Amino acid sequence: MSTTHMNKPQDQDVPANKPSEPRPPQLSTLSVHGGEARQKPGDAITDAIFCASTYTFEDTQAVIEFIEENQSREEYGRYGNPGERVAERKLAALEGGEMAILYSSGMAAMVGLLMAKLNAGDEVIFFDECYHRSREFCSKHLARFGVKTVQVKACDYDAMEAAITSKTRLLVSESPTNPHLSIVDLDRFAQIGCDHGVETLIDATLATPYNLRPLKAGVDYVLHSVTKYLGGHNDLLAGVVIGSTEKLEEVRKLRGIMGAVNSPQNCYLLTRGLKTFELRMQRHNENGQRVAEFLEAHPRIEKVYYPGLESHKYHDVARRTMRGFGGLVTFLVKDADWRATADIVDAVRIPRIAPSLGGVESLIEQPLVMSYYQCSPEDRRAYGIPDNMIRMSCGIENSDDLVADLAQALDTTV
Ligand SMILES: *Cc1c(COP(=O)(O)O)cnc(C)c1O
Repeated sequence: MSTTHMNKPQDQDVPANKPSEPRPPQLSTLSVHGGEARQKPGDAITDAIFCASTYTFEDTQAVIEFIEENQSREEYGRYGNPGERVAERKLAALEGGEMAILYSSGMAAMVGLLMAKLNAGDEVIFFDECYHRSREFCSKHLARFGVKTVQVKACDYDAMEAAITSKTRLLVSESPTNPHLSIVDLDRFAQIGCDHGVETLIDATLATPYNLRPLKAGVDYVLHSVTKYLGGHNDLLAGVVIGSTEKLEEVRKLRGIMGAVNSPQNCYLLTRGLKTFELRMQRHNENGQRVAEFLEAHPRIEKVYYPGLESHKYHDVARRTMRGFGGLVTFLVKDADWRATADIVDAVRIPRIAPSLGGVESLIEQPLVMSYYQCSPEDRRAYGIPDNMIRMSCGIENSDDLVADLAQALDTTV
């Protein structure tokens, strides 16, 4: 069986190749074929789902050879399964990284990486606009192990640099941030890490490798909640960390101990969903832009956060560094209290009310209710979550339908 994997990092600016050299495959080709063996078990075109918790050895000598020669083969399900390796190679290829480690959720990936990289006495610096569970893990739990978390204002590079001490080990940010969609200047972010000998991590869940390439900017680790755009169908949970093999070796070992692995069935769903990754992202980007432009022009809307709008605070950085701006649109309703805002959420007919984002089905939510209901008003103010904020994840439905639906929801709730 051929074990040649189409796994070369893709490059958007492909140089002219000599006729003898194969063209480096582009993103959609990698989505379909990346990480897969050319000829598969059973001669099937798709990868098999091996429902196995453990893997057998022919005899005692085979076990000894496996250990002594560090052979690459399966051993026990907590260390991975064949389908997980396919999904990992495909994700590494899409991101243009050497190694991808798949986890059972985005949070498992975040916890797995931070636990592997930080020791008691170390410090980690975060930009403050971030997924609230990442924040909670750091402030509540890493603190119990003697790791200090420092938060600075998102995109305040001087504040981040000033917060670095001899104990700082990691700089962390999302880009775009959730739900404000601030865009980090990755060159600057990576340079700060480089200047101070501190590693850098970007949670690029909202961007995906279609829209953003943090490793190319010199960032050390890219993290995705695969649950969102990469899985893409609102039917699975997974997370991934991508970076160099050298830097991720210990991280992989800890994942084997944590046990936050994916089932063979889940891995198949992911590999299948990734086949349409580029097609889906094109539509998410189109729908996001269309919905953002519609909302910005609507008299009932006070403000729209979308990096593809010229009015967006970080539009220039986004234009310079991103290929598209994604499907997430956050907006504020003019002169609306929390109830009037909820009425709009309740009046839409296509998007469903749910947390999460990045799937083919559009989703809508009021952050105050969905994620920050139990926060104090002071904390909500500090996190920048006003009562009249709505977040919509544009799916891949027809954009005219989405816009018409929002129009009727805004018109019938005045
Ligand atoms: C959803 C999300 C996570 C957490 O991922 P799960 O797969 O839900 O564990 C982390 N970061 C961002 C930006 C997210 O949107």
